[in-house]
Amino acid sequence: MLQITICPTCLSDKIEKVCRNWTDEVAGTTYTVPNLEYYECPICGEKIYDRAAMQKFEAHSPVFAKKAKPRTRLAQRKAA
Ligand SMILES: [Zn+2]
Repeated sequence: MLQITICPTCLSDKIEKVCRNWTDEVAGTTYTVPNLEYYECPICGEKIYDRAAMQKFEAHSPVFAKKAKPRTRLAQRKAA
């Protein structure tokens, strides 16, 4: 997990990790990413997603689901 203590946009140290259900709409399709962890800056509203959050996006977003076929990607192995 990323450790972010300073907002890269406004340099505030108030940025903090939050865990929320993320709901968005793409091309008329609403999707929800449950328990998404990301950093949010209360000062400027900047949001920062780490790799784990991006993978959650990909797993739930209809956009990624259409674009990326599993076959075209490297095998995803779970860490032992
Ligand atoms: Zn900020």
